[in-house]
Amino acid sequence: MTRCPTCDDEQGFHVVFFNWKTAHNRSTPEDRRRVNRIIFQQKLKFGASYQCAYCEQNWFLDEQGEIMHRVDQETQERLHVWSESKLDFDQEQFDVIRSIRATGADQYGNGRGHLHLPCCVTTRSGERFEKAMLLITKMPPIEYWRGPVFLGNSVLRIEESIYTLNHEVRLQALQADEMKSGLMPTLVVSQDGRYFDLHGSESFFDHEGLRGKDILLPTQSALDNIKVPTKAPVIAEDTSLIPAFYFDWFDGCESLLSFVR
Ligand SMILES: [Zn+2]
Repeated sequence: MTRCPTCDDEQGFHVVFFNWKTAHNRSTPEDRRRVNRIIFQQKLKFGASYQCAYCEQNWFLDEQGEIMHRVDQETQERLHVWSESKLDFDQEQFDVIRSIRATGADQYGNGRGHLHLPCCVTTRSGERFEKAMLLITKMPPIEYWRGPVFLGNSVLRIEESIYTLNHEVRLQALQADEMKSGLMPTLVVSQDGRYFDLHGSESFFDHEGLRGKDILLPTQSALDNIKVPTKAPVIAEDTSLIPAFYFDWFDGCESLLSFVR
């Protein structure tokens, strides 16, 4: 495949995303090529689609007009289906997700614009996922999620999952995740007194028969009075198997669903 001087770097590697605002402001030769040759196509549900005038590579500009994302051939159709679909919750589903509660950005703002709701989903085609992630976001399903991806309108029923960590544990894990590695692991304790480090596992727990609902934050008096192991086993969640279901961001979703921030 020939290299596109706009969409590929000097070595011929694909540029996956770049900052569109910076490209306008900085205006290096590379920035000018991008700004001049990546052309607006149409407004989408959130954000807009663009295309390279040179090689016809498709691009997506986020709702904030900030980051330009490459859209692969395979995801281009999904982008348009997403844009034309209204992906919201019915009342029954909404009551369930309100009780599960969501997590959003960490204290540094990473993850801003996405709400995560770990739960159990049954799809309209009859598949049941004991571990599923609902994402409420303005971003289309083009590259963010590592696992299988579905649109929210394929969801028939949402239930609490026994693997989902309590909301307070999820919030704590999210806060700790961006700390310098190892400085503040997320220490949790099972109901039978075993300690674990949830580094990088912020949503589900499924380890040696223990499940999310069995996991608690250690109380302050436990931390003060007993010898907490300095090294607890690190439980890292493999999100590449967990399907994501994309729902539309809506006004007030953060305060309604996460009660923080
Ligand atoms: Zn191009």
